[in-house]
Amino acid sequence: MHIGGRKYLLSGIVRCGSCGALMQGNANTKWGTFSYACKLPTAGGGCGRVSITGPRLNEMITGLVSGYLADVEVQRTATRNRARTRASESR
Ligand SMILES: [Zn+2]
Repeated sequence: MHIGGRKYLLSGIVRCGSCGALMQGNANTKWGTFSYACKLPTAGGGCGRVSITGPRLNEMITGLVSGYLADVEVQRTATRNRARTRASESR
């Protein structure tokens, strides 16, 4: 999803903790940053009362995702090792 030519990592993923509507990335050119906000009811969104600054949220989520990917990598390595063991046994 592109808004103003910028891609927001979590647009269409992060939901408002208050009403559950999808939150939207908004550029804040004044501060050189961006935020995720619950859309106003008039914009077809939710309550419009919740927002979080993007860099902070991205950092948080990126941390979670890196942790998850590290887990996946560990599992993959374990699977590879098992496969290698089986291959050598069948020989
Ligand atoms: Zn909301």
